[in-house]
Amino acid sequence: MSALLSVGCRTKLRLFPAAVSCRRLQLKKEPTLSQDQSVSMSSLDSHQQLSAGCRDKSTAADSEECTRPPLQGLQLASHAVLDRARQRGRVSCSRCGRNRMFFCYNCCLLLGTDKEAVPRVQLPVKIDIIKHLKESDGKSTAVHAKLLAPDDVTIYTYPCIPDFHTEEVVLVFPGPQAVSFEDMLQRLRDRSSNGSGDSGEPRPKRLRAEGVQATPLKKVVFIDSTWNQTNEISTDERLQGLLRVELTSRKTCFWRSQHGKPDTYLATIEAIYYFLKDFHQLGLGLEYHGEYDNLLFFYSYLHSLVNSARRAASRS
Ligand SMILES: [Zn+2]
Repeated sequence: MSALLSVGCRTKLRLFPAAVSCRRLQLKKEPTLSQDQSVSMSSLDSHQQLSAGCRDKSTAADSEECTRPPLQGLQLASHAVLDRARQRGRVSCSRCGRNRMFFCYNCCLLLGTDKEAVPRVQLPVKIDIIKHLKESDGKSTAVHAKLLAPDDVTIYTYPCIPDFHTEEVVLVFPGPQAVSFEDMLQRLRDRSSNGSGDSGEPRPKRLRAEGVQATPLKKVVFIDSTWNQTNEISTDERLQGLLRVELTSRKTCFWRSQHGKPDTYLATIEAIYYFLKDFHQLGLGLEYHGEYDNLLFFYSYLHSLVNSARRAASRS
């Protein structure tokens, strides 16, 4: 499940069916550049500094990943746009006035970049991210998802969350009630067929054969907060009816370690990416050709910057 923190995005109020007003994120026009700044790790915000040697992931969906270095082999758009933005340095956000690199994580705005050169990803399901009100905006990777897939991602600030149609929505969150990804698919299919889904075929073969129409998944909910604060959100009664799924086979590459937590506790953007990759292969029965790799467009770039800075620091 996700680790991390908030994305405070101050935007308009909306009324949901449960008459709860919630702040939602919107992308706005980019601001102009401010003066040049030096190019170094100091250009990054403090939350972007630090890196851990991350181990790679192993999954039922793609065992090849086990043998690759982390975040390698992704089909990403060119990072040249981020290199140029980095050379320019931080710019002032047109909405809040804060100086940021690449994007304003408070306002969810791209900053100092050619908007057309930043990839836009289409997702097979809607993603709702519930962030904790008290969390620090700058530590979240959820904003990456909103910036890169604005049509399909919505961020809510807890306690403002919508009512979910439980039959077609799952919550990615670990715990004793959580099921595996494969079991999640099977339960969704069983629900849609009123529990008459046992054809006697081996499960993986059945999943591939059934394809997208047999997977009535419309929305996936992620909780975006520190692990110590997710409890308040996960126990909210409005989420109790959702089927919970646990992603256990991937290991995080996030450069902010979470003390005392296993490395299978993923950053939000990692959890979203791996969930969608598994859904593409196991839920839709399709071969994966990098369709959602660009969700890691910012994450992989920041990861490489942080690791380079670490290596440089260790040599000096
Ligand atoms: Zn801003």
